Amino acid sequence: MNPLSWIDDELASLERQHLRRRPPTHEGPQSVRLSIDGRELINFGSNDYLALASDPRLSRAASKAAARVGWGSGASPLVTGRAALHRQLEERLAEFEGTEAAVLFSSGFAANLGAIAALAGPGDTVYCDRKNHASLWDGCRLSRADVRVYPHNDCRRLAELLAVAGRCRRRLIVTDGLFSMDGDLAPLAELAELAERHRAMLLVDEAHATGVFGRNGRGAAEHFGVEDRVHVRVGTLSKALGGSGGFVAGRTALIEWLVNRARSYVFSTAAPAAGSAAALAALDVVRDEPQRREALLARAQALRDRLRAQGWSTGASASQIIPVIVGDPRRATALSAKLLERGLFVPAIRPPTVPDGEALLRVSLTAGHTEEMIAALLNALAQYRETETAPGRV
Ligand SMILES: *Cc1c(COP(=O)(O)O)cnc(C)c1O
Repeated sequence: MNPLSWIDDELASLERQHLRRRPPTHEGPQSVRLSIDGRELINFGSNDYLALASDPRLSRAASKAAARVGWGSGASPLVTGRAALHRQLEERLAEFEGTEAAVLFSSGFAANLGAIAALAGPGDTVYCDRKNHASLWDGCRLSRADVRVYPHNDCRRLAELLAVAGRCRRRLIVTDGLFSMDGDLAPLAELAELAERHRAMLLVDEAHATGVFGRNGRGAAEHFGVEDRVHVRVGTLSKALGGSGGFVAGRTALIEWLVNRARSYVFSTAAPAAGSAAALAALDVVRDEPQRREALLARAQALRDRLRAQGWSTGASASQIIPVIVGDPRRATALSAKLLERGLFVPAIRPPTVPDGEALLRVSLTAGHTEEMIAALLNALAQYRETETAPGRV
């Protein structure tokens, strides 16, 4: 018997539960309009919040750089992989974040794995919000520290967990700044306060907030005015900054420690340097066009209001990430399929990405969406609600 045959059974089981997923493939650029299987769709599924992924300023910067420095990096940054462009971007990220230093990783996922496991180990305790991103969870597990999970954004429970002194060596609190599925912000002022009171390190993953929140687009920490109190600031180049790669910003000693000890940095080839040129161009846009993020957040607020007026729950969303909570995964899939028929791509998010019974449609708004596109989404959702609640429906 084929030792892999169990996988067929597992896949069939996923299929029966409506949980089997397949990555849709698009032609052409990834932007607010997406071409999938020859169909033109309006894209409400991407994290390209500032609509930079297809901005010609980024691709031009990347191709110019690639023509000059080539494509591949050839080695880990610690060997021969670090190019002048990487260094320039690291310095620029530190300046952008207002920190002493920054270090690039090949992805945000790698940044979290590497940073958490380098900062905590056996004998230490890591405190993890239940709704943290998978990469933060995996970093916690990988660290082999004692992992304490607190209910989502529940500072009172976290305070209780921290008060249990134990014999732990170091403590690390780990949280998303802006939560990726619920679109709500972490209470960073309270978390910073708790970290100070208990002499814990505080790591905030700003993946969804970088470029969107804060006066300079630095993220949730800037939004709450607690930048100096967040010791480890993780960000990604792959969402609002329209490219690919992750980074950590903070004190020089922290960054040097990660360069020496974060395994996803030490044992992984540096990303193509041309990507750093694109990220530098993206940071120029974030600096020069604050109206992009301001307009985005204003439109998100308006969309949430309209959705609630239609009777949908958008949970605790306070951002450009707007969950339309439907509960049952089958209902989520059905709704997503209905929207697709009308040319609207809105992914259904099902367990295990969200807890059981909390399936949702994740509407992610970007600076590229027009009022007409948003109106089309609202119309389609209103119609679906009417057919669902219509009398005589079986
Ligand atoms: C997307 C995401 C990451 C991973 O970043 P990538 O650059 O896509 O690997 C990390 N943390 C959070 C909260 C994210 O949403």
